[in-house]
Amino acid sequence: MSNALPHWQLKELYPSLDSQELKADLQKIKNNVAALKELEFPPCPGSVEELAADLTKMIKMEEELADPVEAIGVYCHALITTDSYNSDAAKIESSLSGAMVALGLLNVRYLKWLAAVPEKLWNEFWTSDASNDLKDFKFALNEERDNASHLLSEKEEELAARLEQCGTHAWAKMQGLITSRATAEFTYKGETKRLPLTALRAYQTDSDPDVRLNAQKTEESAWKKIEDQVAACLNGVKGSANTMAKARGYSSALEQSLRISRLDDETFSALWDAMERSFPLFRRYFVSKAKKLGLPKLRWCDLDAPVGDSSRNYSIEDCQAFLYRHFESFSPELRDLAKRAFDNNWIDAEPRDGKRGGAFCMPVRKLEESRILANYACNFDSVNCLAHELGHAFHNYCMKGLPMKQRKCPMTLAETASIMDEMIVSESALKEAQSKEEELYILESAIASTSGVIVDIASRFLFEKEVMELRLESELTAKELCAIMEKAQKATFGDGLDENCLGPYMWTWKPHYYFSGFNFYNYPYAFGRLFAMALYSLYRKEGAAFVPKYMDFLRSAGQASPRELAARFGYDITRAEFWDNSLSVVENWVNRYEEL
Ligand SMILES: [Zn+2]
Repeated sequence: MSNALPHWQLKELYPSLDSQELKADLQKIKNNVAALKELEFPPCPGSVEELAADLTKMIKMEEELADPVEAIGVYCHALITTDSYNSDAAKIESSLSGAMVALGLLNVRYLKWLAAVPEKLWNEFWTSDASNDLKDFKFALNEERDNASHLLSEKEEELAARLEQCGTHAWAKMQGLITSRATAEFTYKGETKRLPLTALRAYQTDSDPDVRLNAQKTEESAWKKIEDQVAACLNGVKGSANTMAKARGYSSALEQSLRISRLDDETFSALWDAMERSFPLFRRYFVSKAKKLGLPKLRWCDLDAPVGDSSRNYSIEDCQAFLYRHFESFSPELRDLAKRAFDNNWIDAEPRDGKRGGAFCMPVRKLEESRILANYACNFDSVNCLAHELGHAFHNYCMKGLPMKQRKCPMTLAETASIMDEMIVSESALKEAQSKEEELYILESAIASTSGVIVDIASRFLFEKEVMELRLESELTAKELCAIMEKAQKATFGDGLDENCLGPYMWTWKPHYYFSGFNFYNYPYAFGRLFAMALYSLYRKEGAAFVPKYMDFLRSAGQASPRELAARFGYDITRAEFWDNSLSVVENWVNRYEEL
């Protein structure tokens, strides 16, 4: 059997960059954009029949306009991410930006048209037979109407879009430049080197506690030198976010973010309550980890310190066999999907020069398939990572055949299937562990990543909330930002961490604080993780009967709020009982971790 790591196959999408098929699609996009300039929207409909005809036409037009842009976009992205030297693909990809702007402006006009439909006619429509063929679009269309109510005038929207380029985006770009170019001198094993701060951070996974502390201290003194510049960037981004949220008629940037995430206040407070209730469990884990590392108390720099050992080698064939076996026990359809992904070369697994790091999965709607990029390293973490991405591919598979409008899934639900797969893998690997050290290693990786998404994310949320509120009054200094960060970390990590060794500079380099389109890019991760863990726990209770419900849930993830969707399957996510399912998983893990 060959040990070569697979590359993905893209031929089914386009034969090549200079193929007739791709050229024809580029021409189609060009024609579409030209035609859009002349496009007249229909007048405001006067009857339910007219409204049905207009909506049907616009939904069809949206798909037709998006199809070639999406297909070429996906193809170029696949070529560039596996070969950053491919300048031809980069050129074609950047030529799509004109079409993207035109489609964005068209969307504003469409939303304005939709919002102008009188409320009375709108309500009449949904109770009439005229809406029969459009019932499945009801949620998406209502959401669009609600979004439209927060739009500014067409002129203001255009001005805001242009100013964003030289305002928020420019601040974010500056933050990226400053932080990616910052370096510091670091001495490791007698050798002194100047390192980018990202490379320095990797020493926080070193097994020597002094190396870890030294790496953090060195990083902090580098941040100190540029803290005022980075603070100026954050003040710029958060100041604009407050201004825009107010202009759009939201009570706060947090309210705006919750609406985008499709969370109502009651669901959010149930989530927050579950997070708070989980803190004592994670604090037990931090205390136990400190003990295992021989430290009196865990410090910020020890959070990623290695515990346990897994020297087991997973060839790509081992990985396939492992995944097929455990996916099969969950659902044959999940197994078949994974098999199809390997057999038909949907996966690009080999790390190589010019290929980007990390992993992702992207849907290829044109083929109703997915493509997965990974950098396979023949260890357990790589198996887990492929399981995660195959979860995304499974979600895409469950949405097969749906129109675009019904596939738009909020970030809160986008990770359900991927984390479910991670749960299947880690629970199976724990059962198959060949030594206590290996069991400890798997548990450490599961608890550490979950605590990052719950305890650290909670501190990031508290930090951002306070910053947004104070920013309404005035700018904040770097010293104030560090103090707010430490206060937030104390509130969530509690006595699990040494309060004199926290991470005050986390706001400088986490890019999430600088995204212009989405504020509070933190709690959706916590929601996604706890929600998927609760579902896994319910699967364990309900057995095979759970699986068809779950697949149906994934298929409808774009068609209702998480709360409504869960209710359809009999779960009330505004109640603590639902979230207790995820906490019980954490509790089992921590109990065993303490024993080992
Ligand atoms: Zn993911």
